[in-house]
Amino acid sequence: MVTVRVPAKVNVQLGVGGVRPDGYHDLANVFFAVALGDQVTATPGAGVTLSCDGPDAAAVPLDEDNLAARAARLLAAHHGLADPGVHLHIDKAIPVAGGMAGGSADGAAALLACDALWGLDTPFDTLLELAAELGSDVPFALLGGVALGRGRGELLEPLPVSGTFHWVFAVADGGLSTPAVFRECDRLREESGRGSSLADVPTPDADPALLAALAEGDPVALAAALGNDLQAAAVSLRPALADTLHAGTEAGALAALVSGSGPTCAFLAKDADSAAHLAAALRTSGTCRTAHATHGPVPGAQVVSAPRP
Ligand code: ATP
Repeated sequence: MVTVRVPAKVNVQLGVGGVRPDGYHDLANVFFAVALGDQVTATPGAGVTLSCDGPDAAAVPLDEDNLAARAARLLAAHHGLADPGVHLHIDKAIPVAGGMAGGSADGAAALLACDALWGLDTPFDTLLELAAELGSDVPFALLGGVALGRGRGELLEPLPVSGTFHWVFAVADGGLSTPAVFRECDRLREESGRGSSLADVPTPDADPALLAALAEGDPVALAAALGNDLQAAAVSLRPALADTLHAGTEAGALAALVSGSGPTCAFLAKDADSAAHLAAALRTSGTCRTAHATHGPVPGAQVVSAPRP
């Protein structure tokens, strides 16, 4: 049996370029791995089978579409294993369809767990390539820490970071579809008269002030530099998110932003105590289902000796 712990991500910067001819957007995506995470346990089995528990388990597909199952099959195919056998159990803490790359995290965890269970010893660079085939957020879940993602987000460059930052995540009822949020971003750009094509939107780049704040471990400077080009689209599709963001700011967050494509909202706190206070205030605010205090950056997917009790 092999258990892998894998982090969720928050995008501390999500710059979205114009829509490309292939339908994707160029991104300047600064990923930040947080301690809120899933665990995937691989045990020997017949074929590739799945189970899941956790508060959102009912929303997780347990068929061949699950990214953990796709990862297991992709790794097996890469090594020419005709008849891979594994049961993958997902202990799910990352909100589903919440803008925190939970499915991608499980895909990365399954790659690592199956690699260890099947004794394949796949080089890390090869695992990163397989991860990129699974989806643009999967390589970061293997890498962890803080990294700049370019292209669709899959071309990763690790970034220097000092110290620990404290975060609170407010979980909404129900998810948001990432493609729908990108479409809404394009629609809002068209509606405003700016246009949404590659020619209309400047190519996004990492903000030097944000990179300096990360390198210096300065939460106040990071709060001032946080940015998410998908936020307006997520709020447009789910107007109640404005109340959640407001509740966190009122309760003392240094900054509030939608996490990725939402609807999870992320709040940066001054320290661990203010994060705990903020999470408690958000839980009673009536503007979210629940709220978790956590921290980061943390490493990417890691084999752990025993699953959490
Ligand atoms: P991202 O931030 O990468 O856009 P997300 O966090 O918004 O993603 P996910 O939790 O990854 O969203 O789920 C998106 C969809 O992926 C779900 O609605 C579900 O149908 C599907 N999915 C596939 N595998 C998984 C998995 N292991 N866990 C959760 N969802 C999964």
